[in-house]
Amino acid sequence: MKKQSKLMTFLMSLLLAFMLAVPGNAVSTQAAGQGDMAVHFIDVGQGLAILVQSGGENLLYDGGNRAHADEVVQYLKNQQVETIDYMISSHYDEDHLGGLVKCLDNFEVEHVLGSDYVHTSDLFNTFMNTATAHAIIVEYPSVGDTYEFGTGSFTVMAPDGISQNSNDNSVVIRLVNGNNSFMFMGDAEETSEQDMISTGMNLDCDVLSLGHHGSASSTSWDLLEASTPSWAVISCGQDNSYGHPAASTMEKLRDMNIPVYRTDDQGTIIALSDGDTISWNQEPCNDYTAGDAKQQSANSDTSQAAQYSSEDTASAPAVETETPDTSSDTQGRTVWISATGSKYHSRPDCGNMNPNKATQETEAQALSQGYEACKKCW
Ligand SMILES: [Zn+2]
Ligand SMILES: [Zn+2]
Repeated sequence: MKKQSKLMTFLMSLLLAFMLAVPGNAVSTQAAGQGDMAVHFIDVGQGLAILVQSGGENLLYDGGNRAHADEVVQYLKNQQVETIDYMISSHYDEDHLGGLVKCLDNFEVEHVLGSDYVHTSDLFNTFMNTATAHAIIVEYPSVGDTYEFGTGSFTVMAPDGISQNSNDNSVVIRLVNGNNSFMFMGDAEETSEQDMISTGMNLDCDVLSLGHHGSASSTSWDLLEASTPSWAVISCGQDNSYGHPAASTMEKLRDMNIPVYRTDDQGTIIALSDGDTISWNQEPCNDYTAGDAKQQSANSDTSQAAQYSSEDTASAPAVETETPDTSSDTQGRTVWISATGSKYHSRPDCGNMNPNKATQETEAQALSQGYEACKKCW
């Protein structure tokens, strides 16, 4: 069910926002109503952690990196989580597995589903040993396996075999609640996407949690055409060193007019499904700026990240891309920086500066480090 009343969405969003905004409010999203499923895309910086609550049950899909482990545990406690009915480790990279160890220690965990490969890291060993210490046997589901969960169910879509690429070993699930559906891709990349498509399984979803933080190696046209999501959610860190999400991915989403939610812009994002409609705790940011372009724009401090905020989530988000004022003539210009001082110069011996200690860099670099043009020599 992709269409929904805008007014209804708005009212539900208001209600949800209100419930979330009142501290200590006894009404949790979990208790919002029968048939409801709340999906929390927890802001874990550069990583992924998704909590799903429905019918008194909890599912945790990945736990973010180690640095955010305490935050994830606290977030779950704030949602009155005591038992994790399904803990799903998509794959064993640190930005997904890091927080799960502490969750094993802090909650009663009924089932752990993982990917059937060995990762050579201390973290992987710690995770497996911690599971064993709690008498938990990690289960390796097969493609097509379906599990009842809350008021709905989820089906394992990948991996169909194990590869050398840790990301392509991600356990991908399609979560269904009534007429609503979500796909959690983990870090699955194009090879895994093609495997999923070739099975002929239903990949259609309302909400697509983009693979690999929106990297260029995931979210192929084929996957988008097979899943035709109504919303995309990207979990990535502000100014992450990978430049996630990739420009090519964001172009595809924009071309397909898919509204976008991003944890780097918006923090934790919550979707509430009543089996018919999906409402959100905030509007999509529809920020189609690539991660590396955002960094440049932040560094040069010349413009805010190109953003388009739409009141009408259903309409095509026609994005105005504001080009940062770093035209190539100034960007590439080489300047001199003195050993002391806050200015950059056109020559190494301007004023009192010591030419032997002056260093050269591009003007863009100098600007990004906070230097200003010297008024004497420019
Ligand atoms: Zn990964
Ligand atoms: Zn990752």
